[in-house]
Amino acid sequence: MITRRTLLAGGAGSPLCAGAQAVDAFAADRERLVAEVERDLADIGSMTGRATLDPRVLDALRKVPRHRFMPMSVMHRAYENRALPIGHEQTISQPSVVALMTDLLDTRPGDRVLEIGTGSGYQTAVLAELVERVYTIEIVRPLGERAAVLLKALGYGNIEARIGDGHRGWPEAAPFDAIIVTAAPEQMPQPLIDQLARGGQLIAPVGSQADGQELLLMRKGDDGQTVTRNVLAVRFVPLTRER
Ligand code: SAH
Repeated sequence: MITRRTLLAGGAGSPLCAGAQAVDAFAADRERLVAEVERDLADIGSMTGRATLDPRVLDALRKVPRHRFMPMSVMHRAYENRALPIGHEQTISQPSVVALMTDLLDTRPGDRVLEIGTGSGYQTAVLAELVERVYTIEIVRPLGERAAVLLKALGYGNIEARIGDGHRGWPEAAPFDAIIVTAAPEQMPQPLIDQLARGGQLIAPVGSQADGQELLLMRKGDDGQTVTRNVLAVRFVPLTRER
């Protein structure tokens, strides 16, 4: 269990203290978190068709300093396998969910990925560990701006962040090898389907707060046709519309 004292000792309070020092101070906490995620996703085979989580995804969870992506008030819980509040009525996703969605996307090192719902930037960083370039869109300006500054401070040079409504995607940078949506639209937004490359995959929690949401994995074949698979029932914050 980490304490506020170890957090401060790890340099979490200082924006100048990014990188190796903070990473090392929490390595053991992250290792425990990875073990918990593996236990939580022990039956992952039924959802991904692969026996275990991709070791590359687990390595990314070992590297990304999750405590840096949340407010001081909940930082001491950073390495619990839970979603936690990050302000503006939003949450940082549960590590198991980040691991599962990232695994399902089955990315390759050369991929270009679009993320809708930057939030804290944690999922963005996990993706940035795995692929060539990540494009991320956030609708709540203070969250998007905070995440962009933090990701830069942590040394991620392969992330482009913008503020806007993710329903429209990022047409200028399309097509994308993978697209991940971390807030729930009522239906899969057509611009995102259009911006998915052939052979690419799109993952999104789709549905309403009232009727429930399903995590959907859509694959676009080499012929441009899409096939969608229902992975599991989930609960995410709604994908809102620009007002
Ligand atoms: N992956 C993030 C999840 C944050 S929760 C993390 O782990 O921190 C989902 C995020 O989607 C919230 O920050 C919310 O503000 C954002 N969001 C909601 N509707 C959006 C929209 N239309 N376009 C872009 N972002 C949106």
